[in-house]
Amino acid sequence: MPKQPLNLPKADILVIDDTPENLNLLSAMLTEQGYKVRSVTKGSTGLRGANAVPPDLILLDVNMPEMNGYEVCQHLKASDRTRDIPVIFISALDDVLDKVKAFAVGGVDYITKPFQLEEVLARIENHLTIWKLQQQLQAQNERLQQEIRDRAKAEEKFTKVFRSSPNPIAIATISEARFIDVNPSFLRMSGYSLEEVIGHTATVLNLSKNTVAIAQKIQLLPETGSLYNLEFEFSTKSGELKTILISLELIDLAGVPCALLIANDITERKRLENEFISLVSHELRTPLTSTMGALDLLGSGQLGTMTEQGQKVLRIATTNTERLIRLVNDILDLERINSVKIFMRKVKCNAADLLIMATETMQAMADKLQVKLIVHPLAIELWADPDRLLQTLTNLLSNAIKFSEPGDTVSVIATLAEYKDVESDKNEPSSHNYLLITIQDQGRGIPEDKLQLIFERFQQVDASDSRNKGGTGLGLAICRNIVQQHHGKIWVESVLGEGSTFYVLLPLPGLQ
Ligand code: ADP
Repeated sequence: MPKQPLNLPKADILVIDDTPENLNLLSAMLTEQGYKVRSVTKGSTGLRGANAVPPDLILLDVNMPEMNGYEVCQHLKASDRTRDIPVIFISALDDVLDKVKAFAVGGVDYITKPFQLEEVLARIENHLTIWKLQQQLQAQNERLQQEIRDRAKAEEKFTKVFRSSPNPIAIATISEARFIDVNPSFLRMSGYSLEEVIGHTATVLNLSKNTVAIAQKIQLLPETGSLYNLEFEFSTKSGELKTILISLELIDLAGVPCALLIANDITERKRLENEFISLVSHELRTPLTSTMGALDLLGSGQLGTMTEQGQKVLRIATTNTERLIRLVNDILDLERINSVKIFMRKVKCNAADLLIMATETMQAMADKLQVKLIVHPLAIELWADPDRLLQTLTNLLSNAIKFSEPGDTVSVIATLAEYKDVESDKNEPSSHNYLLITIQDQGRGIPEDKLQLIFERFQQVDASDSRNKGGTGLGLAICRNIVQQHHGKIWVESVLGEGSTFYVLLPLPGLQ
């Protein structure tokens, strides 16, 4: 009983032989070994069969009437569809087998009759294996070629974008934050030449008063992942100060991890924005206040009673005017804080009092929206402007409540925290004790790409937020300003659909 070879491929073999005894013998032998066998007695029939369903291997008799084996093989090799099928010639001992011709027309091997079972099988298996490996190699080769073409295209595209982008772009090493390439826009913005920049760090070039923070952001990039729209002050070669937004992306340059810095010069935009905002707000405040007064007067009934419909319209007008006044006040507030026209009136105050006061202020809103409010205060002394901190806490609480669903819980928790001051301008990051206030909600959450952006002015996750939730998109910008003026930090973590957690970190007395 012939043994069944292990892992025998169910290969499809076409046998073309005009001698029925040979055909039957080969067929039976190969079928028994698990091969799928098709057998035909004529060269032309074999060609048709091979074309219709190409087999994995062909056993081909040399001596046949009409069309001999060499001719059949030539036809097979002439067609794209059958060219790659391995052909093994069969010849009787007394046939004159022209071996050179057999190989010349494209045969891969030959077998002579009478057949030695083991030999035939060994040859077939060998050629099937070689053929399979060849196929794999070819496929792999094609994949690699495609990859090379794709990479070359991507590289060409990147180079074009890099060179011609209106945005200043720089590439720096992660390890030392040294510039290895910058584009023409970067040179235009900075006023430096390529030679002056390449190989140096932002610190050496004194590009910003926050260069240590930039370098640290670059070095931490493999852990933090891409960062978007970080605002920095940029100092040009001539000492001119610009405001830029930087986005950082981790890239791989020939195996070296690098940071791709894309900058956006927003100096002019900021200046115009500030001018416009301050002008509009000042101009709006007086007429708005007077409109509000007029609406109040109408509502008081002193000018006559109003119909139910009239009162409804009046309520709508009052709500909208209040919203406008809130917006104008927020803008002026932010402008004042920004330009440090008002100083923080810092006094000794107790964190617990502030937390309790903030929750009490927001309790009515929470009740109205059926949101549960929990507070865990911490009796610790702060050196702060209580009004401004209260403003920050109530704003964060108001957001947490308004973006929650009825039945959700909002919690305010104060804890002591040790925080590594990685952004200090000292070389050695230092650890300090801070007060960490956590405001956590179970609301709709904030998408990851908006986590930093919402602290910018007029940034809302959804354009309809101001209409639907009555906000101005300025609250968090104000909060950030106040916290920064207390030398603290504010940030948010969030999972969409599960909720957001805002953190306010404030240094304890003695550290400011
Ligand atoms: P607004 O007056 O619109 O609330 P903010 O600056 O306070 O302005 O907030 C900006 C935006 O950030 C909000 O409009 C909202 O899209 C998003 N946001 C703030 N807090 C939360 C929160 N707790 N949950 C979900 N989204 C929030």
